[in-house]
Amino acid sequence: MTDKLPTVRGTLTPNRPMADLSWLRVGGAADWLFQPADADDLADFLRDLDPGIPVMPIGVCSNMIIRDGGIRGVVVRMGRGFNDIKTNSDGTVVAGAAALDAHVARKAAQAGVDLVFLRTIPGAIGGAVKMNAGCYGVYMADVFVSASGITREGKAITLNADQLGFSYRSSTVPAGVIITSVTMKAPTGEPDVLEAKMQNALDAREKSQPTKERSCGSTFRNPAGFSSTGKADDVHDLKAWKVIDDAGLRGARVGGAQMSEMHSNFMINTGDATAADLEQLGEEVRKKVYENAQIQLEWEIMRVGEFAKE
Ligand SMILES: Cc1cc2nc3c(=O)[nH]c(=O)nc-3n(C[C@H](O)[C@H](O)[C@H](O)COP(=O)(O)OP(=O)(O)OC[C@H]3O[C@@H](n4cnc5c(N)ncnc54)[C@H](O)[C@@H]3O)c2cc1C
Repeated sequence: MTDKLPTVRGTLTPNRPMADLSWLRVGGAADWLFQPADADDLADFLRDLDPGIPVMPIGVCSNMIIRDGGIRGVVVRMGRGFNDIKTNSDGTVVAGAAALDAHVARKAAQAGVDLVFLRTIPGAIGGAVKMNAGCYGVYMADVFVSASGITREGKAITLNADQLGFSYRSSTVPAGVIITSVTMKAPTGEPDVLEAKMQNALDAREKSQPTKERSCGSTFRNPAGFSSTGKADDVHDLKAWKVIDDAGLRGARVGGAQMSEMHSNFMINTGDATAADLEQLGEEVRKKVYENAQIQLEWEIMRVGEFAKE
């Protein structure tokens, strides 16, 4: 681990354990955790950082298994300087990358802007762009206008939708770019109606998904990937949970990791799972689903960092 990092105005923490920052509560330490004070602090740091040191942005790690051996280099987690949310009555919303999706949805609804789909997604806006987050047929790609970001060399850039190649639960944020804020434009509506829609969405989740467990939501992408119209979505017929059920894997376990009894495409940490338990369970599910139905499930959850040394 290098000890020569640029001076910053934010916080740089060496050897920072990551599990408490992640939804699954697993994973080793990052060599460094950088929490920049603002976009200038982030840009100066990246410009002055040895180009050989890897850098990884994270949101709230609601779509990430951090491996037990931790993350080499610098993990960037944006906080207070990046969670401003500005709304406009024409339907435009500008949110910092660290603003939580749920806060953005609520603030937008108060201003009469329909970003209801974000209400039940537990990530932050930077991660929502990277993952093209969405549910019930609406995706970040549908409301995205542009994103501001900082390159690995420390230059400020603006990205439009064409540069992000949105597809089903993914996008192509250029390598090294950290998104700092996002401009969206959505239909307008009555605040009361939007509030009721958000409550309905929350109720629907409670009934069908283990929302109180430690998970990352869907473990695998739905196998078809795209609807017949070519639009990237997850409302098509072949569901990952169904092929997992068909292979008899609802409730399957490895150590403290389990495919949820409530929703078989949700992998949960029942309490003492390691990242290795979770990843091994996922690979066993992929293998058995392939043997059962010749369908190759693709991970939706990202796996990052290094395996623990034996
Ligand atoms: C209970 C539950 C339900 C869920 N339901 C849904 C759902 O309905 N729909 C859905 O789409 N997802 C769902 N998810 C998954 C997850 O919430 C989304 O993928 C979310 O968008 C991830 O955001 P994050 O901030 O946690 O990103 P992280 O998990 O921290 O990171 C995800 C990826 O984005 C990158 N990234 C993060 N921030 C930035 C940035 N500022 N700049 C560049 N890259 C960045 C990371 O490097 C990583 O590659 C669910 C998760 C849970 C736990």
